[in-house]
Amino acid sequence: MGISENFNITLICLFCGAPLEGPEDKEYSSGDLIECSQCEEPNDYDSLIEVAKEKGVEKVSKEVEDHIKNKFSKLF
Ligand SMILES: [Zn+2]
Repeated sequence: MGISENFNITLICLFCGAPLEGPEDKEYSSGDLIECSQCEEPNDYDSLIEVAKEKGVEKVSKEVEDHIKNKFSKLF
């Protein structure tokens, strides 16, 4: 099972914060530059993935935390 199958990562422009929408059939790879359709700045693909991964991890740990809190609040 690959990470790409489980994670639906939205890439966000590092310059203006707009979601980056590439053509559906385009596959980006390490070292590519993705031009933002809003501000036209070139985004480094590797940096985008790093940011997206951090966001993904934050989201997952928050959900786990909430789940644990709910569980415990029912016990007391
Ligand atoms: Zn932008």
